[in-house]
Amino acid sequence: MSSTARLAGKTALVTGGSRGIGRAISRRLAHEGALVAVHYGHDLGAAERTVKEIEADGGRAFAVHAELGVPGDADTLWSAFDGALADRGADGALDILVNNAGITVPRPLADVTEADYDRVFAINTKAPFFIIQRGLARLRDGGRIINVSSVATRVAFPAIVSYTMTKAALDYLTLTLAQELGPRGITVNAVAPGYTETEINPTLAIPEIRRRYSEASAFNRLGQPTDIADVVAFVASDDARWVTGQWIDASGGAHLGV
Ligand code: NAD
Repeated sequence: MSSTARLAGKTALVTGGSRGIGRAISRRLAHEGALVAVHYGHDLGAAERTVKEIEADGGRAFAVHAELGVPGDADTLWSAFDGALADRGADGALDILVNNAGITVPRPLADVTEADYDRVFAINTKAPFFIIQRGLARLRDGGRIINVSSVATRVAFPAIVSYTMTKAALDYLTLTLAQELGPRGITVNAVAPGYTETEINPTLAIPEIRRRYSEASAFNRLGQPTDIADVVAFVASDDARWVTGQWIDASGGAHLGV
């Protein structure tokens, strides 16, 4: 665990925390001293591996299961969270909620089916909305809500139009909630990755696409999950207490030029 342990005594929940960006966020928050609920949808093995990695680093974590994008998902998530905390003898309070779980639909307008549209909105927009709504009573004053958005809400990507719309909705949920929750000292921010090396981007296996996505960054490389996790850790910390309602770019300067 970090010698600074700036999140000691805090409890965090990271949706989709078992792999990719969520795994890096879970590991980083735990490294800073938080007890981390690593939420997963399908892959128990990945969640258990992430928990083990955190424990090997001296941190504390547990896995929480709930499939998102299905009726009752938020309630399922919170009852799993409550049950796991009760097993550890802790109260059900939370300090940091990271809405990270998401899927993409790599199809332009003409090819998006109604089923695609409903599913991407159910997982990326509706689930975080109701997770926040049903979780607010658990969130301590002075807490943090961090929504993982995308640089796609600032640059036009016709190939992922429905995905972009889900993240744009999340951006405005962020802005609105920041005003509502300010009196409780809760900050609400969006952190927006750009091209990041995770399983959501299978096309990164194609050299030409890797090159193009790397060149989109001012730093001429792909983002790594830890690049995003470090920004989330800052927003989660007391150092960011005066930052709320913001869309924070974590894209390595994607498309600053072209
Ligand atoms: P990923 O596919 O590795 O991770 C997505 C996570 O969401 C996984 O843990 C997955 O299990 C979980 N998830 C998806 N559907 C779920 C469901 N129905 N129920 C429960 N859990 C579910 O991809 P990632 O890149 O780590 O994505 C994390 C977040 O970052 C997403 O919100 C994504 O939109 C955002 N993002 C990623 C990139 C990128 O280039 N990788 C860019 C911008 C934004």
